[in-house]
Parts: sequence; C-alpha cells; structure tokens
Amino acid sequence: DLWNAEGRVQFDSVEFAYTKDRVILPRFDLEIPAGQTIALVGSTGAGKSTLAKLIARFYDPSDGAVTLDGVSLTDLHPKDLRRAIVMVTQEAYLFSGSVADNIALGKPDASSDEIVRAAMAVGAHDFIEGLPNGYDTDVNKRGGRVSAGQRQLISFARAFLANPAVLILDEATSSLDIPSERLVQEGLTKLLADRTAVIIAHRLSTVAIADRVLVMEHGRIVEDGSPAEL
Ligand code: ATP
Ligand code: MG
Repeated sequence: DLWNAEGRVQFDSVEFAYTKDRVILPRFDLEIPAGQTIALVGSTGAGKSTLAKLIARFYDPSDGAVTLDGVSLTDLHPKDLRRAIVMVTQEAYLFSGSVADNIALGKPDASSDEIVRAAMAVGAHDFIEGLPNGYDTDVNKRGGRVSAGQRQLISFARAFLANPAVLILDEATSSLDIPSERLVQEGLTKLLADRTAVIIAHRLSTVAIADRVLVMEHGRIVEDGSPAEL
C-alpha cells in the first residue's frame, strides 16, 4: 500500500554526534510545516549538511527523534521513507547513460511521456531537445556534454518525477552564467511547489524565494525568520 505523506517534519530534542567526543547537534528542536520552503544558511561546519542528512535518514539521532507527519523516521518502512523524502545532492550527479535514463531514476517505471512532462515542468525540455540526440543523448559522451546548469535542471526533472512530499536540496556551489542561473532558479521554483523543502542555499536568489530562512551556527539555529526580516 502506498502511504502519501503530507510532509510535516519535526526534530524533537535531537542529539547527534559523528564521534563520541564531539556533539554536532545538541538538543535540537525544529518544526517544519508541510509545504514550507526553508533556506538553510550558515558558515562552513555549522551543521547544515548534517541536519539535511538526518531528515533523509542517512543517520539516526543518538537521542530524540526526527519525525515525518509525527512518525519517527526509524518507524517508517524504508520504501515509504524513500518515496516520501528525496535528497538532491550538491553535484547534481548524473550517471553514465541517456538524459532520459537519468531523469527516470526518479521513478523507475516512468513512461517516456512522464519523463518529458517532468522535464517540461522544470524548464529542461528545450535544452534537452537541442542536444545531439535529444533525450537519448549520452550525458557523458563527447558532444553530449551538458553544462553545470543543465545538470542541475536534469536532477530537478528527476526529483520532480519522484514527486516526494519532502525535498532536501544541497544547492550546487558552482557558479552559473546569468541565463543559466535564471533557468535553474525558475526550475527550482517549479520543483518546490506543493512540497516541503529544505535547501542548503548558496544563492541569494534561492534565499529570496524561501518562506523561511534558518541561520545555523555551531549546531544551533541562531536566526529564524522570513527572507525580508533577515
Ligand atoms: P559546509 O557549509 O562546509 O558544507 P555544513 O554546515 O554542511 O558545512 P556539516 O557538514 O554538517 O557542516 O558538518 C558539521 C560538523 O560535523 C563539522 O564540524 C564537520 O567537521 C563534522 N562532520 C561532518 N561530517 C562528518 C563525518 N562524516 N564524520 C565526522 N565529522 C563530521
Ligand atoms: Mg555542507
């Protein structure tokens, strides 16, 4: 049976440490209402990726719980968890294979029609059509090479197709030219609609489209407000 999560994420007195001698998150509390877009910012080593990985259950807390719709992630069936929470990593990594295969990773049984619709939804369709073999272009082949911005759009199409209730995005740090930046920004906005999102934001333009900005330092939230307030 498919479980459709609403997407409310909560940290209840979460404590987390990679090693015994150093606590990264000390008694961490946070509530993210379903559908909210959070931009997470803070200096290097603040704990942003750690927080993101706890939501995606790469790790379990040593104390307390991370919950989805009130259910501890540790009590969710792995299949439900993988469907409900998707993490897009910094490198927007593409596997060797066609553009279509790379998008289809979001939903292995997707039809080619669904793949195209996902690409259209995030604004990736036009550039894909312009590649030497369109959707069949091998992303790693000579001539099929795709730019950093295009890689991000492909990974957005993949995530759109997966359609998770909760999206975690560690935004790529690689700089893009202005037209690509605009395309990626538009794609991201489409991807964020109707789901909870936590974005480790490296771009000011991303912070601006968030509902809420969290500033993290030394494993704690030191500021919590709207982009306008901060
Ligand atoms: P950045 O902006 O550089 O990506 P960050 O805010 O994402 O930083 P984290 O990666 O969450 O920070 O790291 C938080 C702390 O945990 C850092 O002190 C880091 O050295 C430590 N840390 C991260 N990953 C591990 C690990 N696998 N093993 C041990 N310590 C780790
Ligand atoms: Mg990080």
